Amino acid sequence: MIRHILTVFCLILSGELPALAQENIEGTAREPVTILISIDGFRPDYLDRGITPNLNALAKAGIEGPMRPSFPTKTFPNHYTLVTGKTPDGHGVVGNRMEDKARPGERFTMASKDPFWWDQAEPIWITAEKQGVRSATMFWPGSEISFGGVRPSDWWPFSEALSNDRRIRAVVDWMRRPAESRPKLVTLYFDTVDTAGHFYGPAPSDKLHDVIQAMDTGIGFLRSELDALGQPVNLVIVSDHGMAEVGPERVIRLDEIYARDQYRLVESGNYAGIEPLGDDTSAIEAAFLKPHHNMQCWRRENIPARFAYGTNPRVPTIFCLPETGWLVYQDVPEWLTRTGGGHGYDNFAPDMTALFIASGPGISAGGSVDIFDNVDIYALVAHLSGVRPGPSDGSVEHFLPKFTQ
Ligand SMILES: [Zn+2]
Repeated sequence: MIRHILTVFCLILSGELPALAQENIEGTAREPVTILISIDGFRPDYLDRGITPNLNALAKAGIEGPMRPSFPTKTFPNHYTLVTGKTPDGHGVVGNRMEDKARPGERFTMASKDPFWWDQAEPIWITAEKQGVRSATMFWPGSEISFGGVRPSDWWPFSEALSNDRRIRAVVDWMRRPAESRPKLVTLYFDTVDTAGHFYGPAPSDKLHDVIQAMDTGIGFLRSELDALGQPVNLVIVSDHGMAEVGPERVIRLDEIYARDQYRLVESGNYAGIEPLGDDTSAIEAAFLKPHHNMQCWRRENIPARFAYGTNPRVPTIFCLPETGWLVYQDVPEWLTRTGGGHGYDNFAPDMTALFIASGPGISAGGSVDIFDNVDIYALVAHLSGVRPGPSDGSVEHFLPKFTQ
């Protein structure tokens, strides 16, 4: 073995074999890694703006298509769907903020780390670890949670301040490790495109496009670094939801419907979650459930079936959904003085459609796929990374013709 390494070393010094050196030193070819990348809030039409050469090249080398997010089209519910294969009703993260009758007085927020809020479903990195498939998470909602003591082999506490470049370099560094400590399944999360979409709105603008372009450059850098390592990679690149234009001229005021001291407002903005107070809630229900301009409200159990939302008791008792692009508030926030972007709306609305690209040795160059539900991503990632998936609301059926094996 030592003689083998010395031989390779001498060949490198003499300028021969540089491309094969990595494989020869280790004695075996590298196994593919599967990297699930979320570009939060990336609307698929951003690919058509002439500013994403790296993403377009990956789409061309593999498959791409529109993906329907789960309802509500918010960040935490959809990220957890992507890694559990279950709708929000099934995995229990039914909003970015939520309540549970078993924990009166408490409220889940995006900073909540208590497993209580997360353990209605098992994310794929936990299933992988239990099956001996090494996983590593470079951020993802839920990735900081311990499931009965099981965690990804590598994970970092979320910090919005950590640049995209640092996140990418951390993943590349994991792949520099020797085979036994190198992950087979990786998640990688980016928030900058979502932040810019909220601030500037999704319409073409130099400021939004600068951020999209920088993200695309980062994806290109990740690819070239992995290529340089000789590391084959199946990339599954998704977003959690799209982005709709919102503005101060399209606001519904809850105080015009009912007195605010008669209910608890769990969430508001792109929809409203309402918990009536007191014993007799008939008057407040009548007020909310009647028809409104640009908004419809339901009792939890009467939310239309196509949303697949409302069987989980964490869904608010009364749920109000504005037309896409409308906002609903008790108090209009100070930032709402000009056009911006928002999401959380009807998951069938075209503006909410999410990004999907898959490319790598496990995927043939198959062109585009028809629209599908994001519950299928879990099964796809499990297939590519060699994890036996648990029960889910999705399947790999949609992708079967595109697999190379
Ligand atoms: Zn998001």
